[in-house]
Amino acid sequence: MFQWFGKVNFCPHTKVDGFAAHLRAGRLMGSTCTACGRLSSPPRADCPACRHDAFTFTELSGRGTVTTFTTINAAPAGFEDQVPFRLGVVDLAEAGRLLAGFGPTIDPQEIAIDMPVQVVPRLDEESESIKVYYTLEKPGTAWVRTGPAQGERA
Ligand SMILES: [Zn+2]
Repeated sequence: MFQWFGKVNFCPHTKVDGFAAHLRAGRLMGSTCTACGRLSSPPRADCPACRHDAFTFTELSGRGTVTTFTTINAAPAGFEDQVPFRLGVVDLAEAGRLLAGFGPTIDPQEIAIDMPVQVVPRLDEESESIKVYYTLEKPGTAWVRTGPAQGERA
């Protein structure tokens, strides 16, 4: 399922491949260790706290705050047609930190550190292969959730 993330596949096998399926269903997931209960985001195949190798997926709210951000003017290969674009690093409310582009609900002039945002799962079916990603949007932005319920493996 890593092929859904883009053009390059660095790792053909992973225990957390269900993450992409959940994202495709509109659900942003973390992993909860079945031994110690630690919540990790992004999902971790092995617990960073106790090294236990079993987990369940846990749905995250996607709420977070901007820790830092930047404007990309010299894009990496494959993204040249999108410059300039803005990326933000977000601390999620439940656990973890992620990097994502700012979506259409946020005015680039309003982007600021500590700004609350909503991480919104996206599905791009117009591309050659199905791609899943997420954008940073204004809190309260709605999106469609489908597929497996909270905690299920996909
Ligand atoms: Zn653990």
